[in-house]
Amino acid sequence: DLSMRLQRAAEYVPQGARLADIGSDHAYLPVALMLQNRISYGIAGEVVKGPFESAKRQVAKNGLVDKIDVRLADGLEAITLADDISAVTICGMGGVLIRDILQRGKEQTRLSGNERLILQPNVGERQLRGWLVQEGYTIIAESILEENQKVYEIIVAEKKDETTAYSAKEVFFGPHLLQEQNKIFIEKWQHKLIKSEKILASLKRSDQDVADKIKEVEQEITWIQ
Ligand code: SAM
Repeated sequence: DLSMRLQRAAEYVPQGARLADIGSDHAYLPVALMLQNRISYGIAGEVVKGPFESAKRQVAKNGLVDKIDVRLADGLEAITLADDISAVTICGMGGVLIRDILQRGKEQTRLSGNERLILQPNVGERQLRGWLVQEGYTIIAESILEENQKVYEIIVAEKKDETTAYSAKEVFFGPHLLQEQNKIFIEKWQHKLIKSEKILASLKRSDQDVADKIKEVEQEITWIQ
């Protein structure tokens, strides 16, 4: 069974998708979706040999070698436009790493722009949203969940004919999460507030020139409050 985190990400994969799961590790996500007939084709991309081998084993064990290709590749180098991928999942990495993978994929023309991106950054959500917004993506959905005392966010983005403008505050919190403000969201930001206040106090004690950093943290604190 998938973890709650991967299950939640899986829910955003459109029925019948041609899915590329980048940083797939054991290929749990594409295998589970294929076994449920939720996807028509899958690619599991892995850059590290060990997880790549695990993914291969998992796919073979489930009799899916003709339906899921496991590829040893860095980021979106696992796919070409000829693969006709309609959904990309990148889960369980830092948001900055996910952003860099997407940026390189864009530079190398690995993305047509028609794919749905389903992203689950462990940290660095703001940086990832910032990139999506800068690249003209619309954040079509977001989700927040708690599993094993960790809070995870899922960000779903697509390119639309008309771009949506987002405020810095929406990029910071997530436009949909900010709208919804559910219990987990409130708890996450209550926790962050305490941390940010501690950071601010130590910045103010610093003898370095941290004026810009102080401004930034003060802005965040105001938003959170
Ligand atoms: N996606 C799975 C999940 O969410 O449970 C696995 C997450 S695991 C923590 C991150 C995986 O991403 C590792 O297996 C790592 O080898 C892989 N990875 C890291 N950077 C990568 C890159 N540039 N391209 C492909 N895979 C990468």
